[in-house]
Amino acid sequence: MLRPFEIHQPASAAEASRLRGALGEEAAFYAGGTELLLVMKEGLLRYAHLIDLKTIGGLDGIGVDATTGTLCLGALATHAAIERSPVVAERFPLLAEVERSVANVRVKNVGTLGGNLCFAEPHADPGPLFLACEATVRLEGAAGARDLPIGQFFVDAYQTARAPEEVLTQIRVPRFGPHTRGVYLRFGWHERPALGVALALTLDPRHTQVADLRVAVGGVTPRPTRLRGVEDRARGRGLDEVLASLETVAGAAAGDVRPASDLYGSAEYKGAMVKVFVRRAFLGAAARFNGSGG
Ligand SMILES: Cc1cc2nc3c(=O)[nH]c(=O)nc-3n(C[C@H](O)[C@H](O)[C@H](O)COP(=O)(O)OP(=O)(O)OC[C@H]3O[C@@H](n4cnc5c(N)ncnc54)[C@H](O)[C@@H]3O)c2cc1C
Repeated sequence: MLRPFEIHQPASAAEASRLRGALGEEAAFYAGGTELLLVMKEGLLRYAHLIDLKTIGGLDGIGVDATTGTLCLGALATHAAIERSPVVAERFPLLAEVERSVANVRVKNVGTLGGNLCFAEPHADPGPLFLACEATVRLEGAAGARDLPIGQFFVDAYQTARAPEEVLTQIRVPRFGPHTRGVYLRFGWHERPALGVALALTLDPRHTQVADLRVAVGGVTPRPTRLRGVEDRARGRGLDEVLASLETVAGAAAGDVRPASDLYGSAEYKGAMVKVFVRRAFLGAAARFNGSGG
């Protein structure tokens, strides 16, 4: 049962931050409420005050930085809004593709991207995708704003580098260059993914060499993790050579992640699945050089 609480409706991120500072641990920020109200109903967390971020104008905007081409996603943008956004469809179709498989209609219509990232539930899709894209997050407090690489934002399961009084206001995703293709593959049987692998493959202009590779996995470790060993085994090598030794390249994931057993599977099973999905994601990204962009 939900206990009574007081709702506060700030007009700016700075005001929200000041409110959180004044009310302390009795207060939490509130966006779509799809996670927060659930844990409050179950009595796992109790707050006497909820600070509603939806009353802050402009936090749900989706646009492009005209100078850099960076996609700027307001933290209050819902999954449904991102999925349907013409800007996302044009600038980063992979994100729209990922959002299509997130949760269900009810959660998509109210759940926000910022809420997803701040809750830091390990079985989530946007985290690994943004990690492979080297996105940054903007955090705003009463004293000002700071930008953080997403890799530094995720600290542990349900834990981020956000200070309690900081509001996540924006997620900034750099544009893929003309020789980069991305893929996100998720696997699972519950609503949330058991595993998600995001991969961004950059080839040289002749499309014969792997100029860069970024791979991230979610769901198998407490926080989304870059697979640096896999990346290092592929970077700088011929594409055909990597494709021919993909089993070995993907096998390097064993040194990158130590999966933890949970309700979604044993550590051993997850380790095997990571390898399978890294291989599939690489093949998928390579195939996109002959077809649609990502
Ligand atoms: C049935 C179900 C299925 C789901 N399936 C998937 C799935 O397939 N893939 C997936 O990735 N996710 C999935 N999710 C998670 C879903 O994406 C999140 O529930 C949603 O995005 C959270 O956003 P919210 O706005 O509702 O957050 P809220 O519940 O409002 O907030 C969540 C937490 O973040 C904090 N917070 C929220 N916004 C901010 C902000 N801007 N700044 C600072 N702190 C903030 C709150 O204080 C709270 O602690 C699922 C959830 C449910 C309930």
